[in-house]
Amino acid sequence: MIKAVIFDLDDTLYDYEYSHERAMLILRDYCVKKFSISVEYFENSFNKAKDIVKEQLGNVGASHNRMLYMQKFLEIIGEKSSVYALELYNQYWNAMLETIETFDYVMPLFQKLNNLEIKIAILTDLTAHIQYRKIKHLGIAEYIDMIVTSEEAGREKPDKKMFDLIIKKLSLKPHQMIMIGDSYRKDILGAEAAGIHGILYDKKEDNVIIKQCLEMIKIESEKE
Ligand SMILES: [Mg+2]
Repeated sequence: MIKAVIFDLDDTLYDYEYSHERAMLILRDYCVKKFSISVEYFENSFNKAKDIVKEQLGNVGASHNRMLYMQKFLEIIGEKSSVYALELYNQYWNAMLETIETFDYVMPLFQKLNNLEIKIAILTDLTAHIQYRKIKHLGIAEYIDMIVTSEEAGREKPDKKMFDLIIKKLSLKPHQMIMIGDSYRKDILGAEAAGIHGILYDKKEDNVIIKQCLEMIKIESEKE
C-alpha cells in the first residue's frame, strides 16, 4: 500500500529552467549597467565563480548557494561583496520567484493524493531557505507533509543518505513510497537503490504523470 508520494522540486513541480534563465538575464543586465562591464565579461566571470564554489564544496546543498556565487563573482570583477552581494542575490531570487508556478498536473494530483490520504513530501537538492521560499510562492505549502533538502542531509541525490532521511522522517517502509522526479540518475536510480518506487517526470508529457502515479498506487494496493 502506498502511503506517501515524494516529489523532487526543481523541474518537477515547476519549470526551473525557464525561471532560472529569465532571472539570469535580469541579473546580467543589472550587473552590466551597475559595474559598466560587458555581457561577455559578466558571463565568463559568473560561470567561473560558480565553478569555483562548486569545486570548493562538492556535492552538498551549499554548492548551490547563490550568495556564494555572488560573492565570488564580485571578488573576480574586483567589487566589494560586502556592499553588493546581497543586492545581486535579491535581484536573482526576486526575479526567479516572481515567475514560478506549478506545472498543470501538480494541483490535481495533490488533490487526489489528499483524497486518498496519501502523504506528500519533497526531497530536493539545494539550500533549505530558498526551497521553502519556492514552496510558499508556488502556493503548495499546505499540501506538503515533509521536506528534506540536501542542506539538511549533508549529501545530494542520488546519495542514499537523502532517501534514508525521508524514509525515517515519514516513518514508513521504502516500498510504501513513490518518488517522482525529472532526473533519472538522481531521482529514479536514487529512489530505487533505497527500495522506493520511482516514476520519471517529463515536462513535455505533463498529462501522463497523474495516470502513471494513480496506476502505481492501485497496483501496489492490490498486492496486499
Ligand atoms: Mg529536478
